[in-house]
Amino acid sequence: MKVRLRNPDREIEVPGGRKIHDVLGELGINPDTVLVIRERELLTREDRVAEQDLIEIRPVISGGAGDNRMKCRRCGGPAVVEVRRHNAAFCRGCFLHHVHEQVRRAIEAYDMLRPEDRVLVAVSGGKDSLALWDVLLEFGYRTDGLYLGLGIGEYSRRSGELVRAFARERGAHLIEVALEREYGFDVPTAGKRGSRSTCAVCGLSKRYVFNKAALDHGYDVVATGHNLDDEAATLLGNTLRWQTDFIARQFPVLPAEEGLARKVKPLYRLSELETAAYAFLRGIDYVVEECPLVVGNTQLRYKEAMNQLEATSPGTKAQFFLSYLDRAAPLFATQDDVTLTACERCAQPTTGRFCAFCRAQAQILGERLGAPPAEREVAAESADEVMPVEIYAAERSG
Ligand code: AMP
Ligand code: ZN
Repeated sequence: MKVRLRNPDREIEVPGGRKIHDVLGELGINPDTVLVIRERELLTREDRVAEQDLIEIRPVISGGAGDNRMKCRRCGGPAVVEVRRHNAAFCRGCFLHHVHEQVRRAIEAYDMLRPEDRVLVAVSGGKDSLALWDVLLEFGYRTDGLYLGLGIGEYSRRSGELVRAFARERGAHLIEVALEREYGFDVPTAGKRGSRSTCAVCGLSKRYVFNKAALDHGYDVVATGHNLDDEAATLLGNTLRWQTDFIARQFPVLPAEEGLARKVKPLYRLSELETAAYAFLRGIDYVVEECPLVVGNTQLRYKEAMNQLEATSPGTKAQFFLSYLDRAAPLFATQDDVTLTACERCAQPTTGRFCAFCRAQAQILGERLGAPPAEREVAAESADEVMPVEIYAAERSG
């Protein structure tokens, strides 16, 4: 069934064969604020509409169409995006400006990027990382993209396609790594065969490949699209378990070390809604679907919990994470007094003989890594998470 909405004028498609009440409910429209019109008749909440109907939902708030619309905080024009935690709304142009300012602030606050840096942007095909690449290109940084093919069926195929299209349209360079071709397994197989959860082995593979690609191709820094919601949810998870070593490393920038490229998260000040709105307003085509393997993932549940708090107290998420950075993070800072050596198989930094990725890979492929592993390596292997000291294991996932 077609529904015409006003201010701005637009038409959407929703299922018919039900009561107006249900249609309005689905659209989140308060029935007291609109007229519902079919041809020349008015409908009430209890009226039923059919699949072939065309209805118009017309706002009735008195004072004219302009008045019930929010105004842009910056220019006073009609707003298109509301950012409740800032108690503000923005028009298109001012919203894009707002996003740029938040990213600029993030980069400056932690000295994330210098103009001469070669930046590798890890792009998944989702809204966050494509928005990030877009902003960094706009800012004039020297960026290339990195896409890791995880082999998650149609989801990965579509993601890859969108990343390639993005790069092509902008004449930007994209590096592609396919997990299966390069390392002999894909994420669904890894989840079934290895001892780690699917999300854990996927996270480990990403961190490993991002770092390796940066080093192999001479990049100074890897930028990822982690947003405020991601960071708040991760911090909540780490705090609930008091994983103090993970908490200490959950920072918007991880400095380079021997064998480890610098890692930065320039979107940490922006919510998921803001990065989605940015991508939409910039005409970026991104995968809207979630990864099909992520269902039931703990991180998602923490996000939902944070969103519930946010709904009643806008700003909670930002408070939680940004105040952690300002006031609590220093309390968790510890000194890593471990020495990293080269993995005997791949030469990436590790604390043991073999790095966590090589151990996971060998396990998935049913191979043996040299001599039987030392006891503590076996312990780490079954711990579902790589050894904490491996810096690219800073967050828990899964
Ligand atoms: P996620 O771990 O899926 O929450 O993604 C966090 C960030 O990692 C994204 O914003 C991207 O920067 C990056 N990323 C995730 N998946 C991929 C991928 N398949 N290829 C390249 N980068 C990715
Ligand atoms: Zn290795």
